[in-house]
Amino acid sequence: MHQNQISEKPTTKSAIPQKFVYFFAAGESEGNAGMKNILGGKGANLAEMTSLGIPVPPGFTISTEICTHFYEEGGKLPDWARPNVTAAMAKVEAKIGKKFGDANDPLLVSVRSGARASMPGMMDTILNLGLNDQTVEGLAKSSNNPRFAWDSYRRFIQMYSDVVMNVNSSLLEVTMEDMKEDKHYKLDTDMTVDDLKLLVKKFKELILQMTGRSFPADPWEQLWGAITAVFHSWNTPRAITYRELHSIPVSWGTAVNIQSMVFGNMGEDSATGVAFTRNPSTGDKAFYGEFLINAQGEDVVAGIRTPQPITKIAAAASGMKSLEEALPESYNQLVDIYKKLETHYRDMQDIEFTIERSKLWMLQTRNGKRTAAAALKIACDMIDEKLITEEEAILRLDPSALDQLLHPTLDPKAQKTLLAKGLPASPGGVNGQIVFTSEEAVVWKEQGKKVILVRVETSPEDIAGMIAAQGIFTTRGGMTSHAAVVARGMGKCCVAGCGEVDVDYRTETMKVKGYVLKKGDVITLDGSTGEVYLGEVKTIEPKLDGTFERVMKIADKYRKLKVRTNADTPKDAQTAKTFGAEGIGLCRTEHMFFGADRIDSVREMIIADNKIDREKALAKLLPMQRDDFYNLFKIMDGLPVTIRLLDPPLHEFVPHTDEETKELAERINTDFERLRSKVKALHEFNPMLGHRGCRLAITYPEIYIMQVRAIAEAACMMLAEGKKLSAPEIMIPLIATDKELDILRAQAEQEMKKVQAEKNIKFEYHIGTMIELPRAALTADVIAEHADFFSFGTNDLTQTTLGLSRDDSGRFLGSYVSQGILPKDPFMSIDQVGVGALVKMGVDFGRRTKPNLKIGVCGEHGGDPESIEFFHKVGLDYVSCSPFRVPIARLAAARAALLTKKLHS
Ligand code: PEP
Ligand code: MG
Repeated sequence: MHQNQISEKPTTKSAIPQKFVYFFAAGESEGNAGMKNILGGKGANLAEMTSLGIPVPPGFTISTEICTHFYEEGGKLPDWARPNVTAAMAKVEAKIGKKFGDANDPLLVSVRSGARASMPGMMDTILNLGLNDQTVEGLAKSSNNPRFAWDSYRRFIQMYSDVVMNVNSSLLEVTMEDMKEDKHYKLDTDMTVDDLKLLVKKFKELILQMTGRSFPADPWEQLWGAITAVFHSWNTPRAITYRELHSIPVSWGTAVNIQSMVFGNMGEDSATGVAFTRNPSTGDKAFYGEFLINAQGEDVVAGIRTPQPITKIAAAASGMKSLEEALPESYNQLVDIYKKLETHYRDMQDIEFTIERSKLWMLQTRNGKRTAAAALKIACDMIDEKLITEEEAILRLDPSALDQLLHPTLDPKAQKTLLAKGLPASPGGVNGQIVFTSEEAVVWKEQGKKVILVRVETSPEDIAGMIAAQGIFTTRGGMTSHAAVVARGMGKCCVAGCGEVDVDYRTETMKVKGYVLKKGDVITLDGSTGEVYLGEVKTIEPKLDGTFERVMKIADKYRKLKVRTNADTPKDAQTAKTFGAEGIGLCRTEHMFFGADRIDSVREMIIADNKIDREKALAKLLPMQRDDFYNLFKIMDGLPVTIRLLDPPLHEFVPHTDEETKELAERINTDFERLRSKVKALHEFNPMLGHRGCRLAITYPEIYIMQVRAIAEAACMMLAEGKKLSAPEIMIPLIATDKELDILRAQAEQEMKKVQAEKNIKFEYHIGTMIELPRAALTADVIAEHADFFSFGTNDLTQTTLGLSRDDSGRFLGSYVSQGILPKDPFMSIDQVGVGALVKMGVDFGRRTKPNLKIGVCGEHGGDPESIEFFHKVGLDYVSCSPFRVPIARLAAARAALLTKKLHS
């Protein structure tokens, strides 16, 4: 029918769909659960339930495509869409045997939004539509319940004027409260029919006063207004924020569901409720839900009356009457339906129902949201029940949600005052007193206090303070900044790059939104969301049970990628091994240089005037490095260990204030001025692109030679003691050209051979390189000639490919993401199109030279589920990530393998 009117359509980009209104009623359903994209989740499932023979009030869905047309027409329902809606309404009328707008026995409808992805409470709903001064009398007669009819009418006016006419709902609310107060009523239900009639009159007068428009009496005018409002609600600020948070594209649009009303507020034999087919917080296999007798949908969630538990068992403890006892027949029917739905959808369902005069109606079903613990338990139980396969179970689990199980989280029920939002750099929920220096963090911790270390940014010097603190907060720096990387490695909560907070070291204060917090004040960090709260917010400790291990084992069966860890301390290595790490993929040796027992020797090495002095200082470091490596080898017990030689610019190790320089000069017995000028000479304008990585060894070969010797000697110790040892992997950072690697490899091999000859012990070793500069990826074929393995350093590769400082971009990356310039923070999830193309090129070129070249990734992306999927696709052998992300990576790797398999089947 609409096709005749194509010519009337204003110029739009989208084509008019062949069909865009889908009817559903017993025995006749035009949609199904597979049509979520055009019917939205709610519409698709209403159609599916109807087909399953489950009682669903008849209705129809206007497809999401019309939402696109609505906006293309400047916020107007296209004229060509209207006849299809009118025709569908006629079908509903025929099914129900009532007419929309009939003064004697009117059909009333609900109008609800429903997007592809569930957006709970984000968009609008209107109930009881079709009531006016005439139809309300008809409803009063047909229901034989004038009170119910007039109460429905006043609810409708409140809802409609708020949602469609933008009337401030609190004004109507106040009018009603005033009336109740005058009459000394406590409950809404105390109002008589005459009260309600008067209230309706007052409401209409108020609306006219405020909007200059009469409340629409024509049901069709009401309907068009409601459809328009639902489409508009797709673009309210709260919906936009929600979409951004959950990466829901604006182009998806919402569908509109128009459905005949059923009433849970028609007396003691009527009720309304919501339920889950299993417990959504524990995963227990028990029907779980709440209901209210004689109430309409919104009353259950509004919190005015306390809802009652559905089952007798659940109600027993509360002393309330269950649905099982109050309306046993409806309850038994509901049980049959929930079981049918769960078996059909093969997943835990979140359902809404209404009982009208003992007749049960289903209003919604969808896969229920659940905690991470519940997700694991439900997955395992459903495998055991043979409802789903292991593969399906793995594909359903969200790897990132495992964070909830590994770290304390904020109590969702706790009251909170949000101060600011930064980057969710390392998960967990912690609270503590703020301190502004690492020294103070250490001292306060020793005094038994819980502290949060607050810094503009952290440097390796802060390591002791970071260890002492419960959590770390910075105002500068991105997802791969020092604070983020180190905190993640420790499994410690961190909010980074929170630019809206002003940290003043001088006055030891942090200022935000008019709050001035002093040293010792308490804040709470949520490292999973990046949120910072005032004062202490209660946290919940994680609990791991058998289901976690079981799911991990299942994941291991399906994954192709190996999972290693980034670890440079025995503690990190041990934690990672407990979480299932299959080796160390990156040991950042510079982190070892900051130990109190050696930092001064490192500094002596740095400021040495000549090779002899430098070697003297390095000789002091050698035994300590050897022990470091020996300890790691021992913990990893035969698993591979990749040790990266020194990487950061040397100025990171030297003191930065005159005071500290003075103290150091005294300690190492040198002249202050000489030391100061040496430190000054190390200054670089662009240290990240400066004298760092392999460039250090090109000018000072003895540094890497000492490290290689330490690795070789540690290996010899292991072998001499008969311990298991995998061939040590020596990794050279920041290679840009094959010549660099050629030279440094030769030096390393020479030292390796020397130690082996001295100790008379032979062992295999591998020398490889990081690929973290675009030039290395572009010339990976020639670089591979000198490398036994590659490991992508995607932190630096992202920084250098996008020309985006990993330490400073936190300040503006948020705007890039919110404006859609970048889909995500590229330091968090790999930029597949750009940086990813270089990774792919590096893999392909490298394997062109050496088909079996072992290739991994050790940038932070190695622990990000989406990036892991990409790394699987381009054929990496392993990912390496911080210890607490190892389980996430194991699950993500299994999902990646299964998704690829699904794609090819
Ligand atoms: C990298 O650049 O991705 C990397 C792992 O090295 P770092 O973060 O230590 O620079
Ligand atoms: Mg790097």
